[in-house]
Amino acid sequence: MNARLRIGFGTDLHRLERNGRKLVLGGVELEHPEGFGPVSHSDGDALLHALCDALLGAFGLGDIGTHFPDTDERFRDAPSTRLLRETLRMCPPMRIVNVDMVVQCDRPRLGPRRKEIVKSVAALLETEENRVNLKAKTWEGTLSEGEAVSVSVVLLAELE
Ligand code: MG
Repeated sequence: MNARLRIGFGTDLHRLERNGRKLVLGGVELEHPEGFGPVSHSDGDALLHALCDALLGAFGLGDIGTHFPDTDERFRDAPSTRLLRETLRMCPPMRIVNVDMVVQCDRPRLGPRRKEIVKSVAALLETEENRVNLKAKTWEGTLSEGEAVSVSVVLLAELE
């Protein structure tokens, strides 16, 4: 076994509604056709939240709710890029081997913005774009009320 390799897994889910918030995923602002945004304490970037949890998991550092509680006024409307930067500072010296992400949402369709999101996440992780993969799925009509965005992230990191 190579103990220098660490795997992490994270998920997140936010309801979407017309609440004046922007829909942001992976640090990229998207246009929802009805102007829906995430119900959230911070900016509600479900992709970056799942990524934070995957990083924290890889290094046995707990979860995002412990480090950035939704009762803490410091994180009200906080950009999740800041949460990710603070999470990366908690991690030991390492490099990302690869990250695989699945985003589930009905609207907007993410396909046209996929490369942009991958580029943003790679930059935030200070890694190459070819180490970051994004898959977009829909809810396949299974949501009976409203809309939501759900994200799963798995990552592999190598300790330096
Ligand atoms: Mg979240």
